[in-house]
Amino acid sequence: MSEYTRPVVTAVDASVSHLHENPYDIARDQLRRVADAFDIDGNLVDVLEKCKKAVEVSIPVAMDDGSTRVFTGYRVTHNIARGPSKGGIRYHPNVTLDEIKALAMSMTWKCALMGIPFGGSKGGVIVDPKTLSRGEVERMTRRYTSEIINEIGPERDIPAPDVGTDASVMAWIFDTYSMNKGHSVLGVVTGKPLSIGGSLGREEASARSGLFCIRDAVAKQGGRLDEMRVAVQGFGSVGSSLAKFLHEEGAKVVAVSDTTVALHDPSGIDITAAIAHKRKSGSLRGLSGVDTIAPDELFALDVDILAPCALEQAITERNAERVRASIVCEGANDPVTPAADAILEEKGVLVLPDLLVNAGAVVVSYFEWVQGLQEYFWKEAEVNAKLNDIVSRAFEETWGVAEERGVTMRTAAYGLGVRRVAEATLTRGIYP
Ligand code: NAD
Repeated sequence: MSEYTRPVVTAVDASVSHLHENPYDIARDQLRRVADAFDIDGNLVDVLEKCKKAVEVSIPVAMDDGSTRVFTGYRVTHNIARGPSKGGIRYHPNVTLDEIKALAMSMTWKCALMGIPFGGSKGGVIVDPKTLSRGEVERMTRRYTSEIINEIGPERDIPAPDVGTDASVMAWIFDTYSMNKGHSVLGVVTGKPLSIGGSLGREEASARSGLFCIRDAVAKQGGRLDEMRVAVQGFGSVGSSLAKFLHEEGAKVVAVSDTTVALHDPSGIDITAAIAHKRKSGSLRGLSGVDTIAPDELFALDVDILAPCALEQAITERNAERVRASIVCEGANDPVTPAADAILEEKGVLVLPDLLVNAGAVVVSYFEWVQGLQEYFWKEAEVNAKLNDIVSRAFEETWGVAEERGVTMRTAAYGLGVRRVAEATLTRGIYP
């Protein structure tokens, strides 16, 4: 190919990561600690700490300006002892294989804790989707789907949205997979738009499970939700809906943040206005009538509930000491590092773990998968009531184990999840 006709191809690398520690190391340490506390056989732990399969794919994309960019994507299945694997797809510039492995592992424990018949998986592409046009994101998604087409499927591995992906991305995955199979395959992906087999209640499900957990925890402590002051970090799918639900329940949301700004109003932020502003302008920046604070100040505010709903490792040993909330509600996955967890425990802070708090998404994804397989769709009230049943039961079980064993809610939640996966693995036996 001559110099003149050669296409411009740019390989895309990850930017500097928000991850201070290796997330897969943290996930494995966590598993070993829980296995010790719950007497799980060491041989089994050797099996459970590994991911069953990890694929790395290269995703060339024709860009609008005529150049070609090559993105890197991953899809990891951690475990399928209890059913097909389930896990979101993340589009973010700091995605790493170890991050995806850690998130896949945590999906395995989360599904087991919720008692739904799935294992765990996760996927990701190293990209900042905000820098791409809609057409570029669609072409990237379709090529990524084609590259992992033999890994996913309704009985194999079922993706869903995560950071940087949404219902439109799920629609393109569904369509690409279906075109290749020659017929519509509703069960291949969840978090789809309602018009093509999505479930009512799916979009806000992780925030709704967060609300249920906060409601139950506040009740256990003899408090009232409408007397709580809350700070929420991250104003995306999970954070904005959780802020909205808490606002609707009468709690005072005094601080919110996104990547552009952190906002504070001790008399309570109008969350409806904040959501409308973000929808219109794309960020929280410029919302009127509130003060701007330094991003890290949000963690040190005088609030009852602190809800990190952005990314991993938001609360570390650097800022945990300054937390004044009595409840930390992990809307995001892994937002508190183990060192920070120990500090919060020492301070007597009740940490509601991600495995419980944001599990609503995978529970309603399970409902969407079931509805798709049956081609029979439920009313929203039915979805929300069934979600409440599952999350409240898991909360009660976790609370019971934490009290009985004198451990944190996190250890109890992991213990319940890991024990169920260990039991399924033993019952099936190690193949061959
Ligand atoms: P999203 O992309 O919709 O929103 C993320 C938000 O976090 C954005 O508002 C972004 O601006 C903000 N953010 C990122 N870095 C920040 C920082 N340093 N400070 C302040 N804000 C920051 O993502 P999402 O789907 O809401 O996911 C958030 C978390 O919840 C992730 O950990 C994800 O894995 C987890 N989660 C999501 C779902 C889901 O269904 N979307 C389900 C379960 C768990």
